Amino acid sequence: EKFSNLGLSQSVVDAVTDAGYTQPTDIQQKAIPHILEKRDIVGIAQTGTGKTASFVLPMLTLLGKGRARARMPRTLILEPTRELAAQVHENFEKYGKNHKLTVALLIGGVSFEEQNKKLDRGADVLIATPGRLLDHFERGRLLMTGVEIFVIDEADRMLDMGFVPDIERVSALLPKRRQTLLFSATMPDEIAKLTSKFLTNPERIEV
Ligand code: AMP
Repeated sequence: EKFSNLGLSQSVVDAVTDAGYTQPTDIQQKAIPHILEKRDIVGIAQTGTGKTASFVLPMLTLLGKGRARARMPRTLILEPTRELAAQVHENFEKYGKNHKLTVALLIGGVSFEEQNKKLDRGADVLIATPGRLLDHFERGRLLMTGVEIFVIDEADRMLDMGFVPDIERVSALLPKRRQTLLFSATMPDEIAKLTSKFLTNPERIEV
């Protein structure tokens, strides 16, 4: 299988090729076509399987190269830790280098100032840990009614860290009609429940 046969835009295929990857991994081959069809997906995959690119690449394709006129966040990715959020941010920069998109990394432990500037300019993509995202919302800096794609990454770690109530709060701030992608290394009952609550007729992908 090749990246160019999965339905990704040329700008994304070019960026992946420049990154030195020639072959999509198992999760990438299975997830990318469904995400491009705007299906909800549950991806059961560990870190190290190429999971990040499996959602970043099709999201970039769906977002397109230019900026939307509304200048509201069109995608939101939730990560359990600052480190994981920063990694996903790096992936967006790398694979999105041919795109004119603004990506805001909203994590704790750093000042609000820089993040506020990004939000004021209008971010197309939000990558956040739940606490800091909700802080920004409560300060009135954030409107999430334009979010088209919602990613809950590392859902089982979110559960272990007590983030499920935060995820429920965030979800209530998003449009009901949207695409939701949930990734988890394991599928405990609580995550299965979240899945049936937040996802619509999801495609289940296991690697
Ligand atoms: P992840 O599972 O997203 O944490 O990715 C694990 C590692 O695999 C990262 O260092 C990626 O840069 C790398 N990677 C992602 N996709 C591919 C691919 N198609 N071929 C080779 N390496 C990849």
